[in-house]
Amino acid sequence: MELSQHRVIGRFAGGNGGPLILLTAGIHGNEPAGIYAIRRFFDFLHQQSSQNPAFSWQGSIVGLCGNLSALRLNVRYVGTDLNRGWHRTLADYIAVAESPQDLSVEEAERYQLAAAILEEVRLSAASSLIILDLHTTSAGGAVFAVPGPDSLDFTMGLQAPVIKGLLDNLKGTFLEFVCSADWGIPAQAAAFEGGQHDDPSSVDNCVQAILHCCRFAGVSHAIGVKDSEDAYVAICQPLEKMLEVRYRYHVDDAAEWQMHPGFVNFSVVVSGEKLATYRGEEVICPMDGYLLMPLYQRQGHDGFFIVGGLASGIHL
Ligand SMILES: [Zn+2]
Repeated sequence: MELSQHRVIGRFAGGNGGPLILLTAGIHGNEPAGIYAIRRFFDFLHQQSSQNPAFSWQGSIVGLCGNLSALRLNVRYVGTDLNRGWHRTLADYIAVAESPQDLSVEEAERYQLAAAILEEVRLSAASSLIILDLHTTSAGGAVFAVPGPDSLDFTMGLQAPVIKGLLDNLKGTFLEFVCSADWGIPAQAAAFEGGQHDDPSSVDNCVQAILHCCRFAGVSHAIGVKDSEDAYVAICQPLEKMLEVRYRYHVDDAAEWQMHPGFVNFSVVVSGEKLATYRGEEVICPMDGYLLMPLYQRQGHDGFFIVGGLASGIHL
């Protein structure tokens, strides 16, 4: 499937007064599954609106591509990670987007994306903004969701395990920016990690996350894509509902990083276990817990995270 060369993947407007749902995908350029999911969702939406007399929609929804330059090259980023470095205000980004000069690839993407979101907010005249940022991981395993600041209730609405504390370990994320930026309306945001980059079921999982997002927002009645819903429930069900980050291993140079094979998201690991080699040294697991986002690609600075459960009270 060809990737979009344009920022806007799709747009749909229903009745006035509802929220604007903003779907973003491809903030990392080697994660196209979210874009395929957004396209599939808009196809479904247009089909429903033209063929189903009972269909209704309150508010607007738009899908935007993140790092267009990196998506064209199928790399996580060209120069710097677009999911880091969001340290300026929305007003700063808009000012630069209007007269761009001497920008790096990702800086240009950053300014253009911020301007595109503001444009959509103005176009929609919405009363609130709900942002779902779709990602995939280099390792396989179960899906999970990450809440933006003050967005826990929305994130739990995605019906996937929720990982708290991730943003404390990652400064300047897109999620942090979109929740704190002054859009003129209140905003909630969550990131959704839909599975392994190239696994076709990651697209199904992202579609399900979009549907849960729409249900949470209350924009439409009884929308669903039944064939992949059961698989989504199955991949979410065995896990604890809420977990928190206990540890992050920082990697300066991913070219020197070699994760040992066989780990996936939510692999159970124990203190003392050998997890990887970095610069020729064994990396030893510092505590018991669940492994998250083990790094199996040549770009990125997070070797792995270890998370533990909250809901069960078990301190792994
Ligand atoms: Zn990502």
